[in-house]
Amino acid sequence: MTRKLRMGMVGGGPGAFIGPVHRMAAELDGQIEFVAGAFSQNPERSRAAGESYRIHPDRAYASYQEMFASERKRPDAIDFVTIATPNHLHLPIALAALEAGIPVMSDKPATATYAEALALEKAVAEYGLPYGLTHTYAGYALVREARSICAGGQLGKIRKIAVEYMQGWLSERLETTGQKQAAWRSDPALNGPGGCIGDIGVHAFHLLEYVTGIRVTSLNAALRSVVAERKVDDDCSAFLRMENGASGVLMASQVAAGEGNGLRLRVYGEKGSIDWRQEDPNRLRLRSLDGREEIRHAGFASLGADARAVTRLPGGHPEGYIEAFAVLYREFAEALLAWKDGKPEPLPASLPGIVAGVRGMRFIDRAIESSRTETWVAF
Ligand code: NAD
Repeated sequence: MTRKLRMGMVGGGPGAFIGPVHRMAAELDGQIEFVAGAFSQNPERSRAAGESYRIHPDRAYASYQEMFASERKRPDAIDFVTIATPNHLHLPIALAALEAGIPVMSDKPATATYAEALALEKAVAEYGLPYGLTHTYAGYALVREARSICAGGQLGKIRKIAVEYMQGWLSERLETTGQKQAAWRSDPALNGPGGCIGDIGVHAFHLLEYVTGIRVTSLNAALRSVVAERKVDDDCSAFLRMENGASGVLMASQVAAGEGNGLRLRVYGEKGSIDWRQEDPNRLRLRSLDGREEIRHAGFASLGADARAVTRLPGGHPEGYIEAFAVLYREFAEALLAWKDGKPEPLPASLPGIVAGVRGMRFIDRAIESSRTETWVAF
């Protein structure tokens, strides 16, 4: 391929949070160019946004339906679409894209409900098009290092896992103030039934299974709405049983006052443990039973091949959130090229896709059910 892959976007209009991050990340490694979009449900705002993003006026569409219909007729059509809208639109947009023959890079959660995730899984299989899911944290070099350490057996048999994702931004009733990210996330019709559990609990869940390679088999969760009159949960605690006999604890909260994005994973095996924190992402702490402690730093040649493969800068020059996102885009771009070359299942195991999407939605569904019935539920 002698040109860049062409990206369209749905969502990411003025004032949006994650759309701009997708645009920066997609273009970071020089394999993708952002050329088209339907950026808002309001056609005028979508066109105005396109102008401010310096894309051709013909390609700032009034709706995603118009974008897919027009793009498929162009000789320079988009090669894939990114979905960065509120959750209730993930399924209809993904289905419309697949139907138009356009591969999808979606933000999480894959859909608004578990039933929708099953419908999406079926469509992805039927159309046979690449589908990537931006569980951002999978793109950090030291998450890849932690994953290799677990897979290599260095910790011995894993016995205990603790994962937490603590935020404080919904400590007050922000949804009534006009703050748009809070408004749709607090409305089950736009967000889906899982509030905090679906917004950040699902990231913690994904990270835990992604790094350890061990699946959750049952859980006992307690979800609460701490802030009065909030329509979805804003605080979650869950006990987990893992397929290898290990136990896990998952905490996620959006009413943890003072927290920013306190995602942290600790994995304890027979011989040692690892500890990674998203707010200090370029360091991974390893401790062993005999009291030795080691800090691995991103960017050094001593790291494993998986971590080195997703590192751009020498040690001491920090990479962060946008670069982690960009790793997922780089892998997605490579998968798209392989797919264009006829490889049937081009997504690498390191890149979350529809399997992770369905599993995440199942986790949300099971956690809600467990909390409702106050029982352990099988996964
Ligand atoms: P946001 O409210 O900031 O942005 C949503 C955008 O979608 C807005 O620009 C809105 O105008 C647009 N939109 C709504 N309906 C549309 C339609 N019919 N057509 C075109 N555009 C439409 O929300 P956000 O915080 O950016 O979240 C968006 C998605 O990204 C959510 O699914 C969220 O869960 C996910 N997210 C993921 C991460 C991550 O770390 N991977 C972080 C934040 C958000």
